[in-house]
Amino acid sequence: MLMPMPHQNPLLADWTTPFSLPPFDRIRAADFEPAFAAAMQAQRAEVEAIAAQSDAADFANTVAAFDRSGRLLARIDAAFQALAASHTSPEIQAVQRELAGPLAAHESAVMMHAGLFARVDAVHRERHALGLDAESLRLVERLHLDFVRAGAQLGPDKQPRYAAIMAQLAQLTTRFAQNVLADEAGFQLELTGADLDGLPPFVLAAARQAASERGLPAGSHVLTLSRSLIVPFLTFSTRRELRELAWKAWVGRGENAGETDNREVARDILRLRQEQAWLHGHASYADYALANTMAGNVASVNTLLDDVYARALEALQGERTAVHESLRAAGVAAPFMAWDWRFGAERVRQARYAFDDGAVKPYFSLERMVQAAFDCAQRLFGIRMVRNDAIPVYHPDVVAYEVHDAAAPGGIIGIFLHDNFARQTKRSGAWMSALRWQCRNGGVDLPVIMNNNNFAKGAPGEPTLLSFDDARTLFHEFGHGLHGLLSNVTFQRLSGTNVLRDFVELPSQLFEHWLLEPEVIARHARHWKTGAPIPEALVRRLQDARRWGQAYETVRYAGSALVDMAVHSRIDKEPPPDLAEFEAATLARLNLPPEVGVNHRLLHFQHLFSGASYAAGYYVYLWAEVLDADAFDAFREAGDAFDPALAARLRQCIYGAGDSVAPQQAYAAFRGRMPSIEPLLRKRGLLAEDVSY
Ligand SMILES: [Zn+2]
Repeated sequence: MLMPMPHQNPLLADWTTPFSLPPFDRIRAADFEPAFAAAMQAQRAEVEAIAAQSDAADFANTVAAFDRSGRLLARIDAAFQALAASHTSPEIQAVQRELAGPLAAHESAVMMHAGLFARVDAVHRERHALGLDAESLRLVERLHLDFVRAGAQLGPDKQPRYAAIMAQLAQLTTRFAQNVLADEAGFQLELTGADLDGLPPFVLAAARQAASERGLPAGSHVLTLSRSLIVPFLTFSTRRELRELAWKAWVGRGENAGETDNREVARDILRLRQEQAWLHGHASYADYALANTMAGNVASVNTLLDDVYARALEALQGERTAVHESLRAAGVAAPFMAWDWRFGAERVRQARYAFDDGAVKPYFSLERMVQAAFDCAQRLFGIRMVRNDAIPVYHPDVVAYEVHDAAAPGGIIGIFLHDNFARQTKRSGAWMSALRWQCRNGGVDLPVIMNNNNFAKGAPGEPTLLSFDDARTLFHEFGHGLHGLLSNVTFQRLSGTNVLRDFVELPSQLFEHWLLEPEVIARHARHWKTGAPIPEALVRRLQDARRWGQAYETVRYAGSALVDMAVHSRIDKEPPPDLAEFEAATLARLNLPPEVGVNHRLLHFQHLFSGASYAAGYYVYLWAEVLDADAFDAFREAGDAFDPALAARLRQCIYGAGDSVAPQQAYAAFRGRMPSIEPLLRKRGLLAEDVSY
């Protein structure tokens, strides 16, 4: 009789895979709990050792040493987060719920460790007398602030409560995210016969693919809440009652009674955030959150949002009249509703610009757009993406690349994993994440960077065709990816996208600009079947048509950002009794036309409630857009979208610098001056050309 081999925990063993990626094929959900426990213990031991040194605190024995601590925990957590976000299972979700509290408690214990903080504080006090280089000085300042913001200075009477708040928040935000995912995965609407009226071939193909992934008979069509299916459905379906049904399911995520109801979860999060802010001496959570941003305070965020919102609302009047006319002409009875707008807007677009997304899609296959993004990166930064199928991945759809840079020592600067397709086990949206950050503190670590998108996969044997917006998302996330891959810093805390959060969208949004370059479109937008380049007239119509609907997008986005600011700058102890009502009242006060709707409703607003990183922070896209619009103008002024000298400076000051330089300083070093808002207003069509500001 054979004895079963004891299962060695692969998370704790050395990773002997290519480039030391997680050995995904051997990792089981049950491995995580013991591995996390061991890794937390290991970091506790590292921290105790730093704190217990008899030598006086200095940069090397305290600050640099702390930057090296917790690496085992970080690599296990990164592997876990990758699975939880992109290929989850009930087992992974259970681990996520069970560990959210203990992980937050561990984090608090480290950041409130009195002996450790006393040493960090001592180095911080002496920092200007230590002869530190600029990056080391920056690390001392950032790290010290991390400790303070995590409660290190609160005093022993308040710290236990603060730690309890953080643990509860971790559990609640986990639940919030899982509830949204459950509501998304739980919805499917089979479409038969006349239900398909108005849908162009690419929507039908995506609906067939979604049906086959859900095990329905060949030839069936299913509507899901995947963005790349629901948005075109709302745009093209001529069946108003189905649009209504789909819209309500989409915007109702998180608001359904029962197990997945987020109404109380979100209120509990808000109540705890208020208490967290008060413990720090701030009047509101927004005050606390914004203290560590470029914007710096609520007033400067609201000034930008109010200005852009007001201009967009004015510009919306023209769009609204046209959409209403078009809906009336299509026989849609007033009052017009939120599920009618896209349908009406698309008819205006087709009438005015003879343009529809369906005509463009054959030229924007996923494969070609990936090549386009890679080609732009190569022309700007001299890097080459080389596919390597020997690199372990967690799902067969993920494609792994080595990132080659002839100028770098060793020739390879990182690994990139591209996970482009929607699946039921993946959360919605698009994002960049890291399995490992670049750094040179404690050996040379090559970054391992991931991009996730949620494109509806083409049927077997057929290509995946992107809308222009999908292609933009692809470029956007790859811009974040480059921020991680091109990082060239010493300390992990300052690496890649670990920058101030209203700076983090600059590299991503800036990279989108290259997709719009006529030269890039001419080179890469080719018909998937024939290889024929996209007709110039179609490109022109695409660009004209893109200007249509800008006010709608801006109003929806800024409306969401203003709701975020409103809900997080309240100073009352108790959150609003009904968040849906609070949202409606806020939008009414903003005069947002009800048939416009917003990007995200509070009860499924993952940016705000799946974690803290975008809470009182949805504005960051607009803040960064001021920068990206102004930054790309530098290439315009140079007369070459790939100007080598500018690109080199861009790599050095922005994409490579991480948080090693303060953002204002990094930007000024690239641009030679601080940004102006005018390029943003022009880009969004909000600047009357005859008015100067
Ligand atoms: Zn982004």
